[in-house]
Amino acid sequence: MIGEEKKAIAIDGPSGAGKSTLARALAKELGFRYVDTGAIYRTVGYYAYRKGTDPGDAAAVTALLPEIRLEIRYDGEGLQHMLLNGADVTREIRLPEISMYASRVSAIPAVRDFLMETQRQLARRHSVIMDGRDIGTVVLPDADVKIFLSASPEDRAMRRFLELQQRGTPQDYGQLLSEIKERDYNDSHRAAAPLRPAEGAIVLDTTGNTFAQSFQLLIKTIKENL
Ligand code: C5P
Repeated sequence: MIGEEKKAIAIDGPSGAGKSTLARALAKELGFRYVDTGAIYRTVGYYAYRKGTDPGDAAAVTALLPEIRLEIRYDGEGLQHMLLNGADVTREIRLPEISMYASRVSAIPAVRDFLMETQRQLARRHSVIMDGRDIGTVVLPDADVKIFLSASPEDRAMRRFLELQQRGTPQDYGQLLSEIKERDYNDSHRAAAPLRPAEGAIVLDTTGNTFAQSFQLLIKTIKENL
């Protein structure tokens, strides 16, 4: 790809809308690199968790940042691995308790600034599909295609429920639904880079769709706009 113009597709939206599964499949289809920015925030959240730091204490979390060395690697299957100070924490950052830590630390402006360059650098080096909350609004406002992907909270909680059940770590549906609502509220009401559709974003709702239906909708939208 050296010398070729890099393309960027930004996919933002609330948790559980299917962003990561869809973005990964779309990246494969288009030959782009998939960047899961939630995993990057999760890694910072996980570090705070491990250190016993209150994720809502901005000064304490900010003081941890110089201790954090993040690396992103891709394996042969194109799967993104997160390295924290040299150790692969890809699995640990998916633990349910880390979701809330990630959501809390991501509201701290110093954390967002700390991670900005890592994200932009990836987009300068590769054609990317990047998913997150503020990719189209803040990180890559000049992305070639910006998509805001959503679905009803009930639909998203059900997807998470089935995913956790399949993974062998089932959780109560009602609890998942209230966590999703709480995270939506945190993500869209924070002062730093709140979750909202970017200017020029195409808003798509996947409520009731199968994976194949959403994939078709997205690939068509991307190809029409790229
Ligand atoms: O996407 P995922 O659920 O893994 O993200 C975890 C948390 O990280 C989100 O709830 C959100 O608060 C935060 N996040 C963010 N900005 C991004 C990606 C994730 O604030 N670009």
